[in-house]
Amino acid sequence: MNSNEDIHRLVNAIALKNASEHSGTTNVNTVLSRILSLKPELKSQLKSLIEEISIVVDSVNRLELEQQKKSLEDLSSVDTILDSKARPDPIQSRMLPELQMTGTGVVTRFPPEPNGYPHIGHAKAVIIDDEYARMYNGKLILRFDDTNPMNEKLEYYEAIKNDLEWLGIKPDIIKNTSDDILILHEYGKKLTRNGDAYVCTCDSNKIHKLRMQQLECSCRVNIDNSINNLERLDKIFDGTYHQNEAIIRFKGNMQDKNTVMRDPTLFRIIEAPHPLLGDKVQIWPTYDFAAPVEDSLDGVSHALRTKEYELRNTLYLSILDRLKLRRPLVVEFSRLEFENMPVSKRKIKQLLDEGAITSWDDPRLLTLSAMRKRGFEPKAIRSFVLSLGLTLAETKPPFKALESMNRKIIDPLSIRLFFVKDPIMLTVDGAKNMKVTLDNHPTNNLGTREVEVSTVFYISRDDANLLAEGEQVRLMELYNIKIDRIVVEHGKNKAIIASYLNNEIFRNMKKIQWVSDKSMTKYNILIPYELYQNNKFNPRSLESAEGLAEAFVLRLKPHALVQFIRFGFCITENNKSSAIFIHR
Ligand code: ATP
Ligand code: MG
Repeated sequence: MNSNEDIHRLVNAIALKNASEHSGTTNVNTVLSRILSLKPELKSQLKSLIEEISIVVDSVNRLELEQQKKSLEDLSSVDTILDSKARPDPIQSRMLPELQMTGTGVVTRFPPEPNGYPHIGHAKAVIIDDEYARMYNGKLILRFDDTNPMNEKLEYYEAIKNDLEWLGIKPDIIKNTSDDILILHEYGKKLTRNGDAYVCTCDSNKIHKLRMQQLECSCRVNIDNSINNLERLDKIFDGTYHQNEAIIRFKGNMQDKNTVMRDPTLFRIIEAPHPLLGDKVQIWPTYDFAAPVEDSLDGVSHALRTKEYELRNTLYLSILDRLKLRRPLVVEFSRLEFENMPVSKRKIKQLLDEGAITSWDDPRLLTLSAMRKRGFEPKAIRSFVLSLGLTLAETKPPFKALESMNRKIIDPLSIRLFFVKDPIMLTVDGAKNMKVTLDNHPTNNLGTREVEVSTVFYISRDDANLLAEGEQVRLMELYNIKIDRIVVEHGKNKAIIASYLNNEIFRNMKKIQWVSDKSMTKYNILIPYELYQNNKFNPRSLESAEGLAEAFVLRLKPHALVQFIRFGFCITENNKSSAIFIHR
């Protein structure tokens, strides 16, 4: 953020530094150009900026050189102030609207259930939480909402921690809802004793039916006959009741238009071992109960929730009001979804159960572990999420937008190499045996490689199919050739015979990539496509391109970024013979 105070600190630091380096005198123009190079966005407020600089320059010039040097030393971490990279990107931060202030500082929380691996939707939620915590110098809590032991596993707590770390999220506090289970029990009992909740022993079908009919069940009707209710409360907590025999329900309003308010479940008995607490606890709050109580007790100032919870917000606030607990401000944003790609643990689990995919990091998935394996950079995910802002609109953003942000980041880091898919032999009459040195990147210094060439090359079938006899083409970064003959067998191109032409560069000449038979290796590129087509699993969602790559790939480490020219950006796998396609 560029608060006035931030700008003042920056102007002061620049003026002091410049004056102390120039015999004690600085001037408005020098300071102005320096500040605009650090913060170009300040051009929009040039007038007030110049005023500010004039005042500061004037006061700095009045100081003795020694005093200027002393003040400069006193400035805490002047390098941090002057180093724009060390500060959060002001443009990005400004993409989120200001929060309504509640008097206390900003505390946000990200509450995942450890029932699966986190995906890009979770990244959206946690990045917004994190961004606000940073914008306001506040705190971010990572709270595992682990109150349904049937679905939760230690493996998932770990996966969430690891993947958030990879995303660059550093929570100030990490905790589990289950840490507070006894406190939650107490609040549940209190609500019941106060007559705001009751024990219900009806079966789930009956509960469902009465909800639809807007009718109260006898358990609720008897609530005023409270001895019965309290006895039953004890029976829940002393283990008399077993799973599915009794629940605690909120006393809402069975006639409410908002069906969430029709006496929702607050606690249920789950007789499955909890990943952290084992068999010690079997009475678990629902998310509806745990979330507001935990948010309030954790000091959350702004509870950022996806819009799907809209109907549940009334319940969230009612529970807090009845318990006389502080209300956080609820702020909503839209769920992130993409066309034809599941962004939901439930859907991903279904695909795993059906055997359509075999792991949470399958490259077709948008789990964070899959995206990491597939060459997406955390910074691209962050920029993408922030570019969406805090809209409530349920539109699906184009996945291409994320790809293009990623491309900008990986382009300067990816070495350029040749790969030919479905290769066809090309012989070049009159070509010399030689070694050529090729640049690994057109503009950045990513080194060079030496490639041995003779008269035999391979090009991709797709390129070969477009060649015509007599045509002149350039073998990229090598020389020009003339196509003499295209050998066809069974109606398919089999080989190309060409002759050396020259090495001049012609603007409009067709250029194709190649590999040399002196320096090549078999290579396979895995290409992930959309997992669904017309709402059904797409059986062709994972294809592979087989071909030949320059032998230089054998020297690459796992997870190296490569742009196979005219093919796309790829990331190498653990072996030396394959890579995953990232995007074009
Ligand atoms: P899923 O449907 O994938 O199981 P969930 O909401 O059940 O998602 P939680 O672990 O409960 O998963 O989610 C933790 C937080 O992440 C919640 O606050 C939720 O709103 C948010 N979240 C989950 N999916 C998305 C999404 N697709 N877009 C934005 N936020 C999401
Ligand atoms: Mg959930």
